[in-house]
Amino acid sequence: MNKFDYQQAANTHEASVLVTGNDRANFIAGGTNLIDLWKYNVTNPALLVDINRIKENKTIEEIEGGGIRLGALVSNADTAYHPLIEQRYPLLSSAILAGASGQIRNMASNGGNLMQRTRCYYFYDAEVPCNKRHPGSGCPAISGYNRMHAILGHSEHCIAVFPSDMCVALAALEAVVNVSDANGTRSIPFEDFHRLPESTPEVDNTLKHGEFITSIDLPSNGFSSNYAYLKIRDRNSYAFALVSVATGLALDGDMIREARIALGGVAHKPWRVKAAEDALRGKPVTETSFEQAADLMLEGAQGFKYNRFKIALAKRAIIRNCMMSLHPELQKPGAQP
Ligand SMILES: Cc1cc2nc3c(=O)[nH]c(=O)nc-3n(C[C@H](O)[C@H](O)[C@H](O)COP(=O)(O)OP(=O)(O)OC[C@H]3O[C@@H](n4cnc5c(N)ncnc54)[C@H](O)[C@@H]3O)c2cc1C
Ligand code: SF4
Repeated sequence: MNKFDYQQAANTHEASVLVTGNDRANFIAGGTNLIDLWKYNVTNPALLVDINRIKENKTIEEIEGGGIRLGALVSNADTAYHPLIEQRYPLLSSAILAGASGQIRNMASNGGNLMQRTRCYYFYDAEVPCNKRHPGSGCPAISGYNRMHAILGHSEHCIAVFPSDMCVALAALEAVVNVSDANGTRSIPFEDFHRLPESTPEVDNTLKHGEFITSIDLPSNGFSSNYAYLKIRDRNSYAFALVSVATGLALDGDMIREARIALGGVAHKPWRVKAAEDALRGKPVTETSFEQAADLMLEGAQGFKYNRFKIALAKRAIIRNCMMSLHPELQKPGAQP
């Protein structure tokens, strides 16, 4: 039996104060990741702070400057099917609907999606060493079965990938994460929210203990005319990405004015390479242009025994997804090849 305390927070401030004051306290939203981690003995909270009764952060609304604010406590399903998101940010709808299952998306919150932990098999097996669970204990994935693991941005300490689909689209859209704690509020550009493992793989992101994600801001440009999300996985549903790609293009006729490309399933955070996007500016919309961008995206990629195939797969996926984003009329959110 695990003994733990449970409290319902009435507001964001109270939730933050309760968690900040206790190293072994956790917020719980939908519970779809936290409860799994607990069952596998990966985590063992002494205090659960239930944030579901909080009345703030449960809306999706327009904000100054033409963007949209997604409440952290809105479910993934309500976000994906919200008319403002379907119409103005279909890339985000597509990415969310490519993840998990209908039941899980109904429970999963937007804040929880950003905070979900890696699906590395060794991380979930509390009987084996893992630097992310027990810093300094080693990384069995490097010489083990590493099919799902990283090809970019990994370190000698950890080669895990961040598993979210939603976050790949948020990275491409250059979202901003708003957080608060007892001391105030701050906003974190999406690219600075998740981090690479380096020598501290136990730290997934730049959120401090007790900081609460209140909302996620989407800038006004949702790339709704030319976008595509492609998720390649071992099974067609209910599986995490081997490689995923989110693409948004702004076109002037047959020329590219602006491009955004983010990869999932390849690194410890959604992977963007500004040089690849810059290289597409002013180029024609051809496979050759996208192939050059793909090479820049994958510069320095290094695979392991069981995942080297991901490098060639990612290249093909980038080119194909960029071409698919020229035909958004062929896309149906949630429908994956
Ligand atoms: C079988 C299965 C398949 C899945 N497949 C996919 C998939 O294909 N693609 C995909 O993207 N995801 C997938 N998921 C993951 C799922 O999307 C996440 O579990 C979910 O988004 C987490 O949200 P939650 O509200 O349930 O978080 P919880 O489990 O409640 O919390 C997770 C973590 O987030 C923290 N947290 C929650 N809210 C906040 C907040 N507002 N501020 C600060 N910290 C917070 C909690 O303290 C906890 O540490 C899958 C999950 C399962 C179980
Ligand atoms: S890849 Fe990371 S999470 Fe997986 S076993 Fe190695 S250290 Fe642990």
